[in-house]
Order: sequence, then structure tokens, then C-alpha cells
Amino acid sequence: MAYVISDECISCGACAAECPVEAISEGDSKYVINPDLCTECGSCANVCPVGAPVQG
Ligand code: SF4
Ligand code: SF4
Repeated sequence: MAYVISDECISCGACAAECPVEAISEGDSKYVINPDLCTECGSCANVCPVGAPVQG
């Protein structure tokens, strides 16, 4: 399962910069992960200051 970003996201952008496959983009109220691209590497979860990316 791909990672998903919860509503805890504060749109800091740190995860998008770390994602090796550029699966993360800015959405309307939070950042979002494209499940077709996510390889479940966990880098986004490791850098997020609020723990928003979780394994779906
Ligand atoms: Fe990108 Fe890895 Fe996060 Fe998936 S788990 S969105 S590949 S950084
Ligand atoms: Fe949102 Fe966390 Fe990504 Fe920042 S690092 S944009 S808070 S999910």
C-alpha cells in the first residue's frame, strides 16, 4: 500500500523535496501522494515534523 498524508499536514513541503520518485505534490489543503508512483520507501514519514505521512 502507498503512503498517504493525513490531515495533520501543515504543508511545509519537506516531504516533497525528499521523495525519490516525485510522488508528492501540493494539494488544496495539504500535500498529497500519488499512489501510482509511491514505492513505500518511508522517506516522507522520516522527514515530516508532524508525522502526517502514514502507510495506507
Ligand atoms: Fe515518496 Fe517514499 Fe513517501 Fe512514497 S514513501 S511518497 S516514494 S517519499
Ligand atoms: Fe505535510 Fe509533513 Fe509533507 Fe510537511 S513533511 S508537507 S507537514 S506531510
